[in-house]
Amino acid sequence: MKQATIRTNRNMTENPPVRHILHADLDAFYASVEQLDNPQYRGQPVLVGGSPQSRGVVAAASYEARKFGVHSAMPMSTAVRHCAHAVIVRPRFDRYREMSGKIMDIFREVTALVEPLSLDEAYLDVTEAVAVGTTPAAIAEGIRERVKRETGLNISVGAATSKSVAKVASDLRKPDALVVVPPGEERDFLAPLPAGKLSGIGPKAVESLRQEGIETIGQLAGQPADWFLRVFGKRAASVQARALGMDRDPVQPTRATKSVSAETTFSSDLSSAEDLYPELARLCGRVARSLERKGITGKTVNVKLRLSDFTTFTRQVTLPEPTSSEEQLLETAWGLVEKELSPGRAFRLIGAGMSSLDHPGNGYASDEREPDAPPEGAVRQLPLPLFGEAP
Ligand SMILES: [Mg+2]
Repeated sequence: MKQATIRTNRNMTENPPVRHILHADLDAFYASVEQLDNPQYRGQPVLVGGSPQSRGVVAAASYEARKFGVHSAMPMSTAVRHCAHAVIVRPRFDRYREMSGKIMDIFREVTALVEPLSLDEAYLDVTEAVAVGTTPAAIAEGIRERVKRETGLNISVGAATSKSVAKVASDLRKPDALVVVPPGEERDFLAPLPAGKLSGIGPKAVESLRQEGIETIGQLAGQPADWFLRVFGKRAASVQARALGMDRDPVQPTRATKSVSAETTFSSDLSSAEDLYPELARLCGRVARSLERKGITGKTVNVKLRLSDFTTFTRQVTLPEPTSSEEQLLETAWGLVEKELSPGRAFRLIGAGMSSLDHPGNGYASDEREPDAPPEGAVRQLPLPLFGEAP
């Protein structure tokens, strides 16, 4: 176990009141569950994901595999070139969800203010517990020990006064680490770190910041407000607050997404199966990745279609079991689209989506939740537009 505590320098003139937030993030979650359940994989490079032959991507890589430069979202074919002896495991999302549920339950015993970000990651607002006489470090250690004891998995935790600093902290010394940033130390803690560590600063932003001569969060934080406005536009205030370690985003315990969807408008209308199928496949890929990222599954597959005359309608079908499988989503969605194809009928927009979602850590079986779900295979028109307003 590694622990880093930055020396406390309490600033009692804090205004608004200090909040204490943890970001808890399991280490290489899917790969760690596979190593837990399959002792023969322990100590081995494990890649969870699709097959290298079918353009699969790495959903998770064990730390043994990461040493070879493999990371998640990398094409599996590239990953096996880096690490030829890796064990490739198909994801078992049911099992990951089960483990996630146990872990989220542990979090919820600490505070009601838990905001899951995905199956293996959550923010916890522990301000109230701290107020009655404990410390963020003690709470975080308690969580780490319980998760280890009750699930066998390692979890890293960052503790700070804001979500963004806590997230940077949890990532800093992974795996199996606790990093505490005391109130008042946020800016100094962030300053030496690369700008890309900050949430919301992706690889593209890192590149453009580099062109402005900015490499570290400290250099970023030193810029004047009008510079942020020029570089980040609408996001200026929030990026600046995060760079200074002062963001005030609250932990939002209910973030229940109702549906996940993607749609595209064509530059010229499409009518053939040959043209429409790859578009739908791309959209289904986006939806499936988004579901996977959020750690949720859905039972109802939706498609949205807009004809060249702007007539817009949706079709949906409810599956027997919840899924986040891209293949199943595409197969089902294509079944719905295919029925709508006819000679002379051209489409200017298609969309694909998933609803009747099952969230991580809900602790219920989805069929207990939906007594009124339409029978298997039932297709009906939606009474309301699922994808926003119709024209
Ligand atoms: Mg993680």
